[in-house]
Amino acid sequence: MPDLFIDGEWRGALDERTREIHCPADGSPVGVVDEAGGKDTVEAIGAARRAFDTGPWPRTAPQERGDLLLRVAELLVRDKESIARAESLDTGKRLVESEYDVDDVANCFRYFGRLVASEAPGRVVDTGAAGIDSRVVYEPVGVCGLITPWNYPLLQTAWKVAPALAAGNTFVLKPSELTPHTAIHLMRLLDEAGLPAGVGNLVLGAGPEAGAPLGDHPDVDLVSFTGGLATGRRLMAAAAGTVKKVALELGGKNPNIVFADADFDTAVDMALTAVFLHSGQVCSAGARLLVEDSLHDRFVDEVVRRAAEIRLGGPFDERAQSGPLISAAHRSKVEAYVAKGIAEGAVLRCGGARPTGPGLDEGFYYPPTVLDECAAGMSVVQEESFGPVLTVERFTGEDEAVRLANGTVFGLAGAVWTRDEAKAARVAAALRIGTVWINDYHPYVPQAEWGGFKQSGTGRELGPSGLAEYREAKHIWRNTSPTPQGWFS
Ligand code: NAD
Repeated sequence: MPDLFIDGEWRGALDERTREIHCPADGSPVGVVDEAGGKDTVEAIGAARRAFDTGPWPRTAPQERGDLLLRVAELLVRDKESIARAESLDTGKRLVESEYDVDDVANCFRYFGRLVASEAPGRVVDTGAAGIDSRVVYEPVGVCGLITPWNYPLLQTAWKVAPALAAGNTFVLKPSELTPHTAIHLMRLLDEAGLPAGVGNLVLGAGPEAGAPLGDHPDVDLVSFTGGLATGRRLMAAAAGTVKKVALELGGKNPNIVFADADFDTAVDMALTAVFLHSGQVCSAGARLLVEDSLHDRFVDEVVRRAAEIRLGGPFDERAQSGPLISAAHRSKVEAYVAKGIAEGAVLRCGGARPTGPGLDEGFYYPPTVLDECAAGMSVVQEESFGPVLTVERFTGEDEAVRLANGTVFGLAGAVWTRDEAKAARVAAALRIGTVWINDYHPYVPQAEWGGFKQSGTGRELGPSGLAEYREAKHIWRNTSPTPQGWFS
């Protein structure tokens, strides 16, 4: 069956190109999918445009759209095992993590389904003037280009597709070319749930070909992108030509701040989860450990001891605690990053070399790596590795902790560990980041906004703001007893 979904039809690429997908855990072939080029994407944009301008979807009652999203959530639960397997084969991540991801995806559809069905229809404005009926209504933006990465392929897609549909938009989705299978599955479920033809369209393929038209085509009204900073900048510049709305969820270099009065065992344990979950391929990874000087030696010794014990393995190896990196190219980037850190003066405390052994040689594995004695100016402190690499910096006192934490171009997420509630609140207020965890790391809920300050992005996903991204506000002013004003008499 072909893999591109355009105007309610499954079809192949116009130039009949395909791409083979391999599992990063062992290089085994996972499947062959159709590979769209720019012309396929332009056709998909045309279908989405027609569905928006003349189709029923933007004009359906919010309740009806909400019901469809709830049906999709049920179908996701029904297909959880096969979706999780497909996600693990594409990404190499442990099956149990993919299963959690599918639960989160279903929750996201449920959240936006319920939110849109329960909202008041617009907002009455008190103008203070007699004889005026003034209301603000929220309308869909139009055709949305949705571009997603490979680390949480279906989850990042759900964060865009669910609110885009809830708001009444049509869309063209372009998932990462490395991890296409769960997006294909989602489109089947949208179709099964009864989404009208042309509302949801899927193109698979490389960013510069299949993705680029979503940034510069005049018929796309909004582009929502999750991925790297360099691509985000490129898309924002491309979108300027037609002044489309732009939402960007970019990278992070997230600080995990540990004060000397933190609960030691929990802070150590969570410092590992913060950075090594999914081999560090998490935009909110706590990749910068900032430890109060008086605690540094004991804390880092324990982090290093435990990091060295993390067992690597493939998605279906039940003893594995962490999986491979996404590709050979990405592993090479992580290796170059670590080498640069060591050249800059960082002290390698563990990891730093490819693991070998049964089950590991064919995959793109890289071990948990700790670079100690880092300084704010080093490139390893400033740049995202998107791998299992922890940099450690020392600080003395609250002010220095905040200064270091805020000292990169990013501002996505981070944590503060202390038993002192007032100190935690002061630090949380001073951090220029979109999510602050106090004595915790990584939890998120679809009810709360997610997104970055500074160069971690623009706009928000999830929460009420995540729905607002996909809407235009329209003010309707009705004069109930019009009379001549006489301005020019
Ligand atoms: P990437 O920027 O290389 O690719 C992301 C997507 O953009 C892919 O679908 C890719 O094909 C597409 N793309 C690439 N070039 C394009 C172009 N010229 N025009 C249109 N589309 C193009 O990023 P990646 O390597 O897939 O993902 C890793 C990055 O994503 C990391 O930097 C990570 O921090 C970030 N990320 C951020 C969040 C968040 O919520 N802020 C979540 C996950 C990942």
